[in-house]
Amino acid sequence: MNKATPWHRTLWFRILLGLILGIVYGVAAAAFGWGDFTADFVSPFGTIFFNGLQVIAVPLVVASLVLGVASLSDMRKVSRIGGKTIAIYIATTAISVTIGLLYANLLQPGDRVPEALQQELAAEYEDAAASREGQAAAMAEERGPLSMLEDIVPANAVSSATSNRNMLQVVFLSLLFGIALIRIPSDRAGPLLGFFKGLESVVIEIVHIVMLMAPVGVFALIATAITGMAGDDPGQVAQLLGALGFYCLVVVGGLATQMLVVYPLILRLFTPMPWRRFFPAAAQVQLVAFSTSSSGATLPVTMDRAKRDLGVSDEVSSFVLPLGATVNMDGTALYQAVAALFIAQALGLGVGLEGQLTIVITAVLVSIGTAAVPGAGIIMLVIILQAIGVPAAGVALILGVDRILDMIRTATNVTGDLTVASVVAASENQLRDV
Ligand code: ASP
Repeated sequence: MNKATPWHRTLWFRILLGLILGIVYGVAAAAFGWGDFTADFVSPFGTIFFNGLQVIAVPLVVASLVLGVASLSDMRKVSRIGGKTIAIYIATTAISVTIGLLYANLLQPGDRVPEALQQELAAEYEDAAASREGQAAAMAEERGPLSMLEDIVPANAVSSATSNRNMLQVVFLSLLFGIALIRIPSDRAGPLLGFFKGLESVVIEIVHIVMLMAPVGVFALIATAITGMAGDDPGQVAQLLGALGFYCLVVVGGLATQMLVVYPLILRLFTPMPWRRFFPAAAQVQLVAFSTSSSGATLPVTMDRAKRDLGVSDEVSSFVLPLGATVNMDGTALYQAVAALFIAQALGLGVGLEGQLTIVITAVLVSIGTAAVPGAGIIMLVIILQAIGVPAAGVALILGVDRILDMIRTATNVTGDLTVASVVAASENQLRDV
């Protein structure tokens, strides 16, 4: 944050204002039936902002990862920083899943769902649940245990760059490209490096331009999300939130623990960064993540804030953050663990120690493979349910409240990325004072 700017004129304050006004407008729109007006005249501004961020995600990941790897300049450094980053990402995700499991076991949210409501939800969301199941089945079709590894290596570079869902493939190709650049003679690598440096600067400038409309974009996204959730019957949302409220509270409690206890503790133990510097910087990123529900779309903002407000070096942020947006999803993994146990409990199915361990392992792996786009977490949840022998149709129970939990878990996902970037930077002596 620019120290000369008074707080009420900072971008994050205006985004917060957009968020609050969006909630107020959304509730009013749902109550007074302004759904059509909102869809026609408010929602497009949200889509424009969201797409503005999404469209630069692939070029940003490519440019920054290629440069990130190439700037490490020797393979030993690539494997040191790469190994460290991946190990910390996996460790933070495992902690997160464990917190989710602990809460879900202690508080047993699934036991509080009355049988009648279960049947009602199952009937109401039957089709939607079947579509998630179908998507998960399409992904898992005739797949062996190593299919996730197969998926990372694309057969065609252009086609993998055509969808933000394939970001893991783009990450893989960019890493490969960067490594190859280190290995070829520098006179040949030079022009390409120059090109990627130019591309990165252009993309970052576009981020600044797109962020100018963030307050309006966030307003529109939130208003649309609320009217969308309310549908034709706003009373039903209140009812649903009442019935699934305890489940939501357990997920949110877990996410809050990860965000407000685990991350500050990690920062305290492994970096000199005071939380007073971390949280104001993270707030802007969290607000964008919350309103877009996509860590991929938030990535440009995450990188910008990490460099400017947290003082993470270019070298570390270009490498750690694009990787993190794609593979590090602590919030998603925690949510998946709670949701899996909730569904099992609600359906009266016990999950023993072996099942719980399966959840830890699959949730860590599955969250790596979850695309950084809205609603991806619940599709991948089906895979976890199948691994512990719980009927996948059970996702029908939680679909109605997924949108709101998606917002909060995505905000946790990006906070995790910022935390790990700070830790890696500190360990490499690349965290400057800002
Ligand atoms: N929306 C989340 C993200 O982009 C993924 C999820 O659905 O959990 O980080």
